[in-house]
Amino acid sequence: MNTSSKIALVTGATRGIGRETVRQLAEAGVHTLLAGRNRDRAVEAALQLQAQGLPVEAIALDVTDPASIAAAASDVEQRHGRLDILINNAGILADETGKKVSEQTLDAWRTTFDTNLFGVIAVTQAFLPLLHKSAAGRIVNVSSILGSLALHQDPASPIYDFKLPAYNVSKSAVNAWTVQLAYELRDSAIKVNTIHPGYVKTDMNAGEGELEVADGARTSVRLALIDDNGPQGGYYYLEQVLPW
Ligand code: NAP
Repeated sequence: MNTSSKIALVTGATRGIGRETVRQLAEAGVHTLLAGRNRDRAVEAALQLQAQGLPVEAIALDVTDPASIAAAASDVEQRHGRLDILINNAGILADETGKKVSEQTLDAWRTTFDTNLFGVIAVTQAFLPLLHKSAAGRIVNVSSILGSLALHQDPASPIYDFKLPAYNVSKSAVNAWTVQLAYELRDSAIKVNTIHPGYVKTDMNAGEGELEVADGARTSVRLALIDDNGPQGGYYYLEQVLPW
């Protein structure tokens, strides 16, 4: 059982922003669990980081599979007895580009919500008892600026034309969930915040974006490492507060 360093778990960490978040947390001395829905891919990604001397462990966790979530929580309890940092990073984009807002299939909406919203809630519920065992638990929900209702309503905003409804609404819901959970946790040692990582060059964007993954992981890492004076229930991009 690890009692000397902080323990973190990052979902959807086999590639993209999640894997880089694991790397940066581990570089900061945090013992980090690299969670992936496919155990082999998680082990492969963890081995690469371990080869750089980083304190990283692989763990299987499919955020849409209740049995997988329960097994991961039980595994972390047995291995570490607590969790200090949970980063709900796993996410998918299932909207079909070129379709009107009203034409996205219900299937696309359900698939998106299963991972992006219900996955976040289910994983949080499973790990909350372990986060309560931490002296200073931190939860970071990886949302998106595309979840901002205020910006979607504003024709002058840079995201005004980015109407990917299932994805966007799932992230608005993650933001709303963060506010609800922050209320429950307001008098506890746990802080929960929601973030936009930036427009990052990952597979989700077919490699397009404004930021390299190193910068795309910075906001998650910053909010994971806030001290007791840090924010509760906020919505951030780097140091910036975003409008709901
Ligand atoms: P990515 O490169 O497509 O990686 C997504 C990760 O999520 C992969 O590791 C994938 O695992 C995992 N995942 C998908 N479904 C899962 C499930 N059911 N259980 C566990 N893991 C699952 O995407 P990314 O750009 O790094 O995105 C990371 C987060 O940032 C997402 O929440 C995304 O919405 C958010 N975000 C990204 C951007 C951007 O510009 N890239 C902007 C705003 C917000 P597999 O390898 O097994 O597929």
